[in-house]
Amino acid sequence: MKIQLEHRLSSCPDKLRCTVCRQIFTVGRIRPLLVNDGARIQGDLCPECVSLPADEIRLILADQAWLMLEQPRLFQHQVESPETLALELFEASLEELKMPSLYQWLMKTIKSGLFVNPDEDQVTVEAIAASSQSPWHHNY
Ligand SMILES: [Zn+2]
Repeated sequence: MKIQLEHRLSSCPDKLRCTVCRQIFTVGRIRPLLVNDGARIQGDLCPECVSLPADEIRLILADQAWLMLEQPRLFQHQVESPETLALELFEASLEELKMPSLYQWLMKTIKSGLFVNPDEDQVTVEAIAASSQSPWHHNY
């Protein structure tokens, strides 16, 4: 599991719900996403949670998974069943969490100021993330 830094798309709503603390937060130019080892996006992270130690984030995620199983009604807005999501979240919480480096933050911040159209960059990143093959096998 890792925290992936993405440029915020123009289509992205201003307010998002944090997957870790479940609070609504205002997203900035950079959108930190929690991605599991299977390249599946687990959700967004608020600025407070993104600065937590990796192990603490994993513990909270495991708690979230239990809460999802105990009170599935709280999570019914999701597309998938709470049981599926809970299992996926629980498995993710067992994975080692790779935090973005200061360098990655810096590069993303600089780029988000330079890009005229961040949406174009995002499409490429998502296409690579969605592909199960290595990027160099991908046909563009
Ligand atoms: Zn949070």
